[in-house]
Amino acid sequence: MFDNLSEKLDKALHVLKGHGQITEINVAETLKEVRRALLDADVNFKIAKEFTNRVKEKALGENVLTNLQPGQLMVKIVKDELTQLMGGDVEELNLKGSPSVILMSGLQGSGKTTFSGKLANYLKNKKTKKPLLVACDVYRPAAIDQLHVVGEQIGVEVYSDRENKNPVSIAVAGIKHAKSIGSNVVIIDTAGRLAVDEVMMDEIANIHRAIKPQETLFVVDSMTGQDAVNTAKTFNDILNFDGVILTKLDGDTRGGAAISIKSVVDKPIKFIGTGEKMEAIDVFYPSRMADRILG
Ligand code: GDP
Repeated sequence: MFDNLSEKLDKALHVLKGHGQITEINVAETLKEVRRALLDADVNFKIAKEFTNRVKEKALGENVLTNLQPGQLMVKIVKDELTQLMGGDVEELNLKGSPSVILMSGLQGSGKTTFSGKLANYLKNKKTKKPLLVACDVYRPAAIDQLHVVGEQIGVEVYSDRENKNPVSIAVAGIKHAKSIGSNVVIIDTAGRLAVDEVMMDEIANIHRAIKPQETLFVVDSMTGQDAVNTAKTFNDILNFDGVILTKLDGDTRGGAAISIKSVVDKPIKFIGTGEKMEAIDVFYPSRMADRILG
C-alpha cells in the first residue's frame, strides 16, 4: 500500500535526518521533494502546495533550524500534517436508528457490493447487530445474484425482489422486511454505472430522499486517484453523503485519493477495503495511515 509514496517521502526526509544542523536551504529542498512526492502520488497541485506551506510554517514556528534533531522534528511535523489532511480523528458510523439504514452509493466496479458484504459481516461480528442486506440494482440481475452469494457466505439475509423494477420501493420494502425479522441495521446496495450519469444520480437521490438513511456512504476505488476525488465531489454535491469508503487500497501504490479526498469534500473516510475477502475491511485511522506512509 502506498509503496511509491512512502519511498519518495522517506528519500525526501532522509536528507534532513542525516544533518545535526540544517539550513533554510535544506528545508526548502526537502519540502520541494515532499511536494513532488505528493504530486507523483496523484494529489492535486493546490492541496500539495498548501500542505508544504503549512509544514514550512510549522517548521519555522517550532524552530526546526536550531533543533538538535531537525530531521526527526520534520518527520513529526509532516506526519501530523498528513494525519490532519486525512481527517484527524476516527469517524464512527451513526447507527442510532431502529433499524439504522445505511445507503451505499458509487460507480459500478467501485466495490459497493463487496463492501456491503464486508460491512454486514463486520457489524454481525459485533454481536449486538443483526444486519439485513437489500439488493436495489434493478438493471443487472447478476448484481442481485452477487449480493445473495455474499450474504450466504457471511450468513446474513438478503432481501431482493426480481419482479420489482423500482429501486425506491424495493428499498422501502427492504426496511419494512428488516423490522419484521428484528434486524437492526439495513445495508442498501444500489446500482452504479461505469461513469457518472444523470439517470444514476437521479435514482440514488430519489432513494436517498425516500428512505432518509442514517448513513449514506460513498464507495470509491482508491486506485483511480484524482478521478476518485472528482467522482466524490459529484456524488457529494447530490447526496451530501456522510462518509467515504476507499476500496482496493491493497493495490494502491500511490495514495492520492486517500490523502486528498477529505480536504476536497470535507467528509471523513470511514472504512477501507484491503482485499477481495469478506474480512478485508478496516476502520480508517488517519494517524495510523500517516504512520504507515512515513514508515
Ligand atoms: P460494485 O460494482 O461497485 O458492486 O463492485 P464489486 O463489489 O462487484 O467489486 C468489483 C471488483 O472489485 C470485484 O472483483 C471485487 O472482488 C473487487 N474488490 C472489491 N473491493 C476490493 C478490495 O478492497 N481490494 C481488491 N483487491 N479488490 C476488491
